Amino acid sequence: MNAQTPASRRSAQPDHHPGEELIVAYASGALDEANALAIASHMTLCPVCRDAVALYETLGGSLMDHLPPAPLADGALIETLARAKAMPATSQPRSSLAAHGTAPLLPAPLRHYVGGDIDAAKWRPLGAGIHHMPLINGDSVTARLLRIGPGRSVFDHTHGGTELTVVLDGSYTSQGQHFTRGDIEVADETVHHRPVASMKGACVCLVVTDAPLRFHSWLGRLMQPFIGI
Ligand SMILES: [Zn+2]
Repeated sequence: MNAQTPASRRSAQPDHHPGEELIVAYASGALDEANALAIASHMTLCPVCRDAVALYETLGGSLMDHLPPAPLADGALIETLARAKAMPATSQPRSSLAAHGTAPLLPAPLRHYVGGDIDAAKWRPLGAGIHHMPLINGDSVTARLLRIGPGRSVFDHTHGGTELTVVLDGSYTSQGQHFTRGDIEVADETVHHRPVASMKGACVCLVVTDAPLRFHSWLGRLMQPFIGI
């Protein structure tokens, strides 16, 4: 575990964001529980996406308030959007993401699932320096905490669907890009990667998948039934 100070945990702004489609889906309440948890966790650490979600929520609310029962007159939608956009975007997170006085490692939405901060996590070994804690086991969508030991890597894999990874502590490299606290990596069927944790310390992530991973190594495929990824 990195010995980061609370101040350093909160100073950097993430470089990697979920993208417009996921932000809009979150703001409109269209995401399932596990994917919403990933976006909410990223938002807690990302003021840019917090403001974007607040704006889309405002836009959605304004549309509902102003939509007339009859078909829209020419320009009515544009006028409504412009009026909503002119309202100052709130920097307040959603109520469940209320800012906290101290600086726990885990975002508030995650602490609810873990039963406390990172010290409360009940890790299960997966071998090769990797541990996990399953949080949500849906029919197809799963959410888990993953802890990758310093310099260790997740098995080489592609995806049957979409995988969201939110870095909570430490950092990892994937496809030549560096992901650190607050960053979110969105990987779909087209992405073939092997995330490697920094040598500086363990990397703790929230990982949400909506379909089983496709491992390329025999060991990964062998372990898959046991780890449920
Ligand atoms: Zn963001």
